[in-house]
Amino acid sequence: MALGNLDEIYRDDVILDHRRNPRNPVRLNDPDIVADGVNPFCGDEIHLQIRLDYEGRVSEVGFQGEGCSINQATGSMLSEAIKGLTPNEAAGLSDRFHTMMQGSEPTPEQLAGLGDLGSLAKVRDFPVRIKCALLAWSTLEDGLESA
Ligand code: ZN
Repeated sequence: MALGNLDEIYRDDVILDHRRNPRNPVRLNDPDIVADGVNPFCGDEIHLQIRLDYEGRVSEVGFQGEGCSINQATGSMLSEAIKGLTPNEAAGLSDRFHTMMQGSEPTPEQLAGLGDLGSLAKVRDFPVRIKCALLAWSTLEDGLESA
C-alpha cells in the first residue's frame, strides 16, 4: 500500500470538525484528576481536568490543547469518549486506542466501536505522527495513575 498524503488526514471531516470545534474546552475548577502532557518534538501540549461523580465515573472533562491538528483533534475526541467511564474503563479504552494505532490493521468492528476515534486510524500511515495521536492518551493514563 502506498503511503497516503497527510492532507487526507487534515481534510477528514471528523478530524477537521474536532480541530475547529474542540469539545469541552473550558478549564474545570476543582477537578479530581489533572493531567498535563507535552511532546517537545512537535510542540504538542495536552491539558486535561476531570471530575468524577459519586459513583466514580467521569462526569466532566476540561480539555485544552496546543500544537498540531492530530494532537488537538485526538484530545477533543478523548474528552468526549471518556465521559461516563470509570477510570478503569477509561484505561481500557486507552488500551484499545493504542492497539488500533500500533497493533495489526484494525477491523471495521474495532473502528466502529471506537466512534470518532476510529477516524484516527489513518494516522497509522504516518508512523512519525502516531505519537501525536497518543499524547492525549498517555497524558490521561498518567493522570489516572496519580489519582
Ligand atoms: Zn503533533
